[in-house]
Amino acid sequence: MITRERVSLVVPIYNEEQNIPLLFEEIVVAMADVTPDYELILVDDRSTDGSFGQMLRLVRRDPRVTCIRLRRNQGQTAALSAGFDHASGTYIIAMDGDLQNDPADIPPLLRALQETGSDIASGWRRHRREPFFRRRLPSRIANWMISRLSGVKLHDYGATLKAYRRSLLNQVRLYGDHHRFIPALAARYGARVVEVPINDRRRRFGRSKYNLTRAFRVIIDLITIRFLLRYLTRPVHFFGIPGLLAFLTGGAIGVFLLLKKIILAVDVFTKHGPLMLLSVLLIIAGIQLICFGLLGELLTRIYFEGGNRTIYTIDRVYGQADMSDEDLAIGSAPAPEVSPPDA
Ligand code: UDP
Ligand code: MG
Repeated sequence: MITRERVSLVVPIYNEEQNIPLLFEEIVVAMADVTPDYELILVDDRSTDGSFGQMLRLVRRDPRVTCIRLRRNQGQTAALSAGFDHASGTYIIAMDGDLQNDPADIPPLLRALQETGSDIASGWRRHRREPFFRRRLPSRIANWMISRLSGVKLHDYGATLKAYRRSLLNQVRLYGDHHRFIPALAARYGARVVEVPINDRRRRFGRSKYNLTRAFRVIIDLITIRFLLRYLTRPVHFFGIPGLLAFLTGGAIGVFLLLKKIILAVDVFTKHGPLMLLSVLLIIAGIQLICFGLLGELLTRIYFEGGNRTIYTIDRVYGQADMSDEDLAIGSAPAPEVSPPDA
């Protein structure tokens, strides 16, 4: 046994019908060495194939399995977030539901957490099996940029397979597609992160839900994360400092032109037209930036003092104990044929 504490596994699922039964078998095998006290939380991101039925089938079979069904497809981050909030373990493992992550890597991740006393053990796919130009290259660049801008240096932000201490994860609120940035966001709370090499496997069933446009979204997200990490508690510095500089420069130019007009009686309007325009622009822009900063300060207070909002909306949570006859009927439909793809 690796731990006496409870372990929660959280797996987001969007159309992974054929992968679910295999994933479950692999998890059972891997967890046998870890602890008998674990739960598997499958979050159905409103799949449109037979995934939900597969999940209910597992819920029916095994009391350790819970299925959370979201009201509509809300994305991987929202699905993970729903799972994290429902997890009761001391440790939380997040992993993909497409068998690309290998449950056999769970024991080393947990061991790394315990041995180093870290808060996050982050999976590092050292030998990735995906196409170079479409996947690995953009991911390399992204990892380098996120590491530089967030100050948390990791080789692989993109791997979902990570182990977390729940006490830490509960502090991090997730928005948009931010799940990959958890180690960077958690650094704000003083999280310690270790990297553990993990296995990367080819997707055998179903299709990837992302394309190359994800690279652009990651870059935009990175700007947000950088802003949040540095200025969340003091937005007035972000906006106010350039604002003040603009205001002072514009003011100085204005005073210079005014003196020139009064003392030297120069017709500044015709002689220094562009400069006057610049002065006015800088003053207005400066005032606006300072006001942005002040608004930001107000928003920050609302953010920290406001109620507990979530980015997901749950339809229902299915545990073995509270399933109705109707649910049981869904879960007991015959399993779809699963045949090895290269057979
Ligand atoms: N996923 C999800 N909601 C979505 C897209 C994906 O829950 O809107 C899940 C998906 O089922 C899988 C994981 O997130 O378990 C990773 O997705 P995918 O394998 O498509 O990403 P890739 O490995 O290609 O980066
Ligand atoms: Mg995948």
